[in-house]
Amino acid sequence: MLEGTATFETTPDPNEASETTEVGPMGAIHFEAGDVFQQGRNETKEPVTGLAIGVGSERHAWDGVEALVDCPDCGAETVHSLAASDADDPRMPAMDAMTITCTACGSDR
Ligand SMILES: [Zn+2]
Repeated sequence: MLEGTATFETTPDPNEASETTEVGPMGAIHFEAGDVFQQGRNETKEPVTGLAIGVGSERHAWDGVEALVDCPDCGAETVHSLAASDADDPRMPAMDAMTITCTACGSDR
């Protein structure tokens, strides 16, 4: 974080309680590949400016990435798998160029 304080919620297992970590100005948080489910947000009234740095993986590395997302069909936060729709493009995909699939009910978005 460059300015402000961000709050990160992490859990190794979506069925377990999450842990909350605050990261202040000039602070950093590190995640290994496939480490934990993670979510960052600003719970303060002040702006937060930060940098996210990812170590060079290729676009197809998105295949197999899982995220906790609210599923309207399940009516709950469930594990979703992510896949890039254009596997030949090595750049990080835009969110609308990705297929997000609920692993509980199989619905795509
Ligand atoms: Zn679902």
